[in-house]
Amino acid sequence: MDDTSYVSMEQHLCAVCGVPYDTGNLLLDRRLRASMARHTTTGWGLCPEHQRLHSEGYVALVECDLRRSGDAAVGRMRPEQAYRTGRIAHLRREVFGQVFDVPVAADQAMVFVEPGVIERLQAMTVPSED
Ligand SMILES: [Zn+2]
Repeated sequence: MDDTSYVSMEQHLCAVCGVPYDTGNLLLDRRLRASMARHTTTGWGLCPEHQRLHSEGYVALVECDLRRSGDAAVGRMRPEQAYRTGRIAHLRREVFGQVFDVPVAADQAMVFVEPGVIERLQAMTVPSED
């Protein structure tokens, strides 16, 4: 369906929800060949919604199915390896530190968690408005 063109809208995939979003950048083929599809995904980032939650002090917990995520360890999973179950929760940074007993860096927007973690969390904490 996508016609190729020498100009393409750059998109990133949101590392939290996995949805592509426009970065607002245009990519141009250096030789003006019709080499690109209408949209080109160049990397990972945060969609406007999850960027907002990140800047408001939330950490996203992204549940992924380890058995379908290759042999990656949950702590060192790269976004492209993760098989997302679609379940996402947001915790305030300071709450995250209390619950998991590990500090989370200020620039860390998200962590991958195993199935069941979010469910347990929701049972023990008051869910956020998200
Ligand atoms: Zn997102």
